Amino acid sequence: MRMPKIRILADQVANQIAAGEVVERPVAVLKELVENSIDAGATKIEIEFRNGGKSYIRVEDDGYGMSQDQALLSIERHATSKIRKASDLNHIQSFGFRGEALPSISSVSRFTMRSRAIKENEGCEILVNGGKIIHVKECGMPVGTRIEVAHLFNSVPGRRKFLKTEVTESAHIIHMAKLYALAHPSVTFSLVEGGRTLFRSPACEKVEERVREIFGRGLAESLSPVSVNKGEFSLHGLLGKPGHSRSTRKEMIFFVNRRPVESKTLTYAVLEGFHTYLPKGRFPPAILFLNLDPSAVDVNVHPAKREIRFREEAKVRHFVLTAVIAHNRSFEQSPQVVRGVKEVYDERAGKMVPQIDPGALQLFGKKEDLPSLADRSSNESASPAEAKEERAVSSPSLGSPASLLPASGVGSRADVTATWRFIDRAHGDLVLFSTPEGLVALHLRAAYERIRLEQLENTLRDNQNCSSQSLLLPEAMELDGVDRKNLENSLPKLRRIGFELEEFGRNFYRLEGCPTWLDPGEAAHFIRDFIDLAREGRGGDKFESWVRQALEKSANYTREEKDDFSDDEILRLTKQLLACRNPYVCPKGRPTYFEIPKRDFENRFKRKL
Ligand code: ADP
Ligand code: MG
Repeated sequence: MRMPKIRILADQVANQIAAGEVVERPVAVLKELVENSIDAGATKIEIEFRNGGKSYIRVEDDGYGMSQDQALLSIERHATSKIRKASDLNHIQSFGFRGEALPSISSVSRFTMRSRAIKENEGCEILVNGGKIIHVKECGMPVGTRIEVAHLFNSVPGRRKFLKTEVTESAHIIHMAKLYALAHPSVTFSLVEGGRTLFRSPACEKVEERVREIFGRGLAESLSPVSVNKGEFSLHGLLGKPGHSRSTRKEMIFFVNRRPVESKTLTYAVLEGFHTYLPKGRFPPAILFLNLDPSAVDVNVHPAKREIRFREEAKVRHFVLTAVIAHNRSFEQSPQVVRGVKEVYDERAGKMVPQIDPGALQLFGKKEDLPSLADRSSNESASPAEAKEERAVSSPSLGSPASLLPASGVGSRADVTATWRFIDRAHGDLVLFSTPEGLVALHLRAAYERIRLEQLENTLRDNQNCSSQSLLLPEAMELDGVDRKNLENSLPKLRRIGFELEEFGRNFYRLEGCPTWLDPGEAAHFIRDFIDLAREGRGGDKFESWVRQALEKSANYTREEKDDFSDDEILRLTKQLLACRNPYVCPKGRPTYFEIPKRDFENRFKRKL
């Protein structure tokens, strides 16, 4: 038997193997090239691609360029100008450092590089095909670098097979281009697909302006800025305003030291911070930049550098979570800033379309869990209306014209100082208010259910005996052995939250009173539902979840009785709603109210109001 000989691989083969890791797919090529351009100090980057990047990608910059020698060296393996020694790895400031990208890409494509360094009179052009240099010649061009990558993976049919459809690859490229544009607002970016300009964004000062240009006004308006510095960390960027959510995580975008990253730590910290503000299964839009000492992050986890690891996960998580919660709290009880109605960017239509809070509307028909009780600390005062007014006055920084008015919150039509003026109740549960900026439509039942849920939550949280009201006619209930046992187990807790239940004779109970936050007409239904739920729920103490579910169910019984609210009651209810911790959605996550801006009416009338 012959022993196989160990050989050093030819560079070309080694490069192709590395290419498998560094450039798995077209978007990876784009990423490497754009990063090189940024590293080269570009102020302008042009990107063009065709067929999902499979047939053509071009990245052109006005950075400091390369001389011919350097250009030739740049396509050699492990040639980099960015680090010299291993210890440099601990404080990497540039994107690149492995010196792998160009040799890898040029080994699996037809690769044309043109570059001119600042001090040179001429540029040079290098053509490489499948790793073989075809020609090197001089060429005229401005200072900077232009790289074209054609027929990617043609020489490696095995890889080509694994590529997804053009549409998918193209979506990845577009997303990646947007990420880099977001992280570098001071660089002019343009993105062209097969001759069609997808975006062109001149250098701007703030990330907000970038968002507007590359994602459209809809996303831009659903976000509000955050900026927190604490010790070694800083976080800035944009977070979703209340009532805005998305069905996917696509708009949860993170950068660490300006590098777009995927990080479970960051994703979960943000989701947790929004936990009680969003229905389950919905995601907050977030574009966040975390900056910290480069030595506290490990970016060298994977050749594509997309995944990162923090040296102190827990600390980072806590910092981000705290910042997100503070941001969300800042919106509580400030109705002026909530506008459920928006123009939104319709991705399929590729333009802005006026729509009544699409995010909220999508929630209809979805079964959602109730927001949990955890991490609530706002302190409701006895009179929610007063509390609300106090806050409205003390938070004038919200930038909306409404906040300039002497805000007295909700009032009748005659109340000229009211921010929300009651117009009428129409079509059953629909209540209309006029506001400085348009009209608010409020759903009475949704509002009622939200208020009741928070009252229940307060009761559960405070964990002290709650006041109850007596029923006009006590209700007798006959229970079988199982139900009786279950009820007995929960009796102390039910009593504490305000139910008055007395045993009279075997298997009979009499309901004599209920908590003040529950309509006496619903009390018996509530207890029956509670007992049913306890019967279904095997083992464990699920008291809190049974009470919540029973409350939700009992909402179905109130139809007729709630039909005759007086105007005053409606005003009181609305004030109560606005004093809620989360006034924007009902317990099932459907909207409680939204505002239709004047602009929408003006658009429809095609004239000013
Ligand atoms: P790395 O970025 O890890 O250093 P690359 O293979 O991506 O490795 O690039 C190799 C070298 O080529 C870089 O270190 C840089 O000196 C040079 N280079 C690549 N692209 C550009 C560019 N657009 N402008 C100027 N220099 C570049
Ligand atoms: Mg590089």
